[in-house]
Amino acid sequence: MDLKPFDTAVSPVAAGLGCRCPRCGRGRLFSGFLTVAPACERCGLSYDFADAGDGPVVFIILLAGTLVVGLALWVELTWSPPLWVHALLWTPLVLLSTVGLMRPLKALLIAQQYAKRAAEGRLDRGTP
Ligand SMILES: [Zn+2]
Repeated sequence: MDLKPFDTAVSPVAAGLGCRCPRCGRGRLFSGFLTVAPACERCGLSYDFADAGDGPVVFIILLAGTLVVGLALWVELTWSPPLWVHALLWTPLVLLSTVGLMRPLKALLIAQQYAKRAAEGRLDRGTP
């Protein structure tokens, strides 16, 4: 596969949700749980550009917070169970919806960053 910079053989959503390289869609993006590998082992794309920042965490806070708080309120207002039932219900859901979504959301934002060529802004120093 001979891909030029910013060519992509896979959709950013598929690459992101699969935690794969945003260019070839086959190499692994992560070398650890959330550690981005230095480069793709398949196509050689350097992941130096990858910087999702706090983006995944913000989306997870909004999604998981809305889901868990909404469900907890609904259960409380409908059945008023004891507190241990809430702890038993919401602790696994919080863990699944936060830790479980971290990798795919970080990979999705990195794939979107690659597809949209997002980078830090620069001043144009062209001729006036
Ligand atoms: Zn690749």
